[in-house]
Amino acid sequence: MSEEAFYESVHAYFDRAALYSKFDAGILQQVKDCNAIYRMKFPVREDDGSIRVVEAFRAEHSYHRLPTKGGIRFSRMVSLNETIALASLMTYKCALVGVPFGGAKGGVKISPSQESEGFRERVTRRYTAELIRKNFIGPDIDVPAPDYGTGEKEMGWIVDTYKNIRMNEPNIYACVTGKPLAMQGIPGRTQATGQGVYFGLRSCLERPEVAKKLGLSPGLAGKRVILQGLGKVGYYAAKHLQQDGGAVIVGVSEQEGGIHNPEGLDIPALFAHRQETGSVLDYPGAENVDRAALLEYSCDILIPAALENQITAENAPRIQAKVIAEAANGPVDQAGDAILCQRGCLVIPDLFLNAGGVTVSYFEWLKNRAGVSFDRMISRHEEIANRNMVAAMETLTGQTLSVSHRDSLIHGPDELRLVVSALEQTMIRAYDRIHEVWLQRDLPDLRTAAFLLSIERVAESYSHHGIFP
Ligand code: GLU
Repeated sequence: MSEEAFYESVHAYFDRAALYSKFDAGILQQVKDCNAIYRMKFPVREDDGSIRVVEAFRAEHSYHRLPTKGGIRFSRMVSLNETIALASLMTYKCALVGVPFGGAKGGVKISPSQESEGFRERVTRRYTAELIRKNFIGPDIDVPAPDYGTGEKEMGWIVDTYKNIRMNEPNIYACVTGKPLAMQGIPGRTQATGQGVYFGLRSCLERPEVAKKLGLSPGLAGKRVILQGLGKVGYYAAKHLQQDGGAVIVGVSEQEGGIHNPEGLDIPALFAHRQETGSVLDYPGAENVDRAALLEYSCDILIPAALENQITAENAPRIQAKVIAEAANGPVDQAGDAILCQRGCLVIPDLFLNAGGVTVSYFEWLKNRAGVSFDRMISRHEEIANRNMVAAMETLTGQTLSVSHRDSLIHGPDELRLVVSALEQTMIRAYDRIHEVWLQRDLPDLRTAAFLLSIERVAESYSHHGIFP
């Protein structure tokens, strides 16, 4: 039921934005529809030797650019329509942040936390073999990545399976992103989506006109934040908001319950507490509260960073946050969105705000194709140039810098710094463009602006395509 609501919501958001587009209805239909879907069922051996049939999907939403790109979700809740809706969001996301890929998404219907590592590995390898069999994976075809319920480990199994079957192909490591570093991954990918959420939120809230409309001071410092989901995305978003933005995380909601402390929670310490005890509950100094009710507590920014359909017509009227930052995909459904917008709440949409993950995936894919890391060819050169510049400055001014000051000026970039700065630049630019479209075309909200911008970029490229007979 809820995956239908999600599918309907994404279509409704598309349709609402498409009303503002000048493109031909046929082109818009092509932008909206999912280009190809592979639904599979395959047998996997259980730990006790018996066989389980697993259902899985891969949806390739748009071929206006190749390869297609998008994560693989492991969850008991995945369905065909959820996978299609998520794949379409990938298309719009990539178009928005200038990642030259079409959108795709995969779903495997298992509950990863209840399965052994051995079972998850057998499922992942078999799923990869199924994708290879139907040409639904490859460096120039379709490139998966992590999503809810998957991570580096699964991506490592995928590349290993691919490599052993397609031994003679070029660029094999570019068949999947989000890989472990030891398998040609890229530093910064794990935290990319969450860090991108931080850069995106900062870009939006530092605009004085946005802050003024919301009755807030510009910027993130001192803003009270409630977070839903302390997974990879939520954790890194909150950590950067706290450490780099000076925001105060007053509540965290997880499956086992919520905790609240108006004085603020220390996110890395809370994460360690959850690792140790298996729960966010009973964190020192915080009050245990109902996990759903916590979303309705007083705060400036609410960050849903878990799953879709968390804010609906049911709870939207009671949400007190002034800003909803969609770190997850589809956390606000269309009825919830309408209520929030009507109440003057600013929703920063998923297709922009969580695009940091696929942005850094793109860097990983480029690195794999180049066969060299980004810093290798420039790091020493930059360091020598900086050293000469510092020496010239010291000669000219007659002053000598302290060792630590000099060190901070001369070092050449490492790969992580390059990745993070390129991610930051991508999110700043994307926000600027959405903001401009929002104001110039007098659109009702940021989501409509983001959708319209993406739709028109994809439509533009389709309008140059030949239509094959
Ligand atoms: N699963 C992530 C998303 O929803 C990342 C996709 C990717 O890196 O390809 O954006």
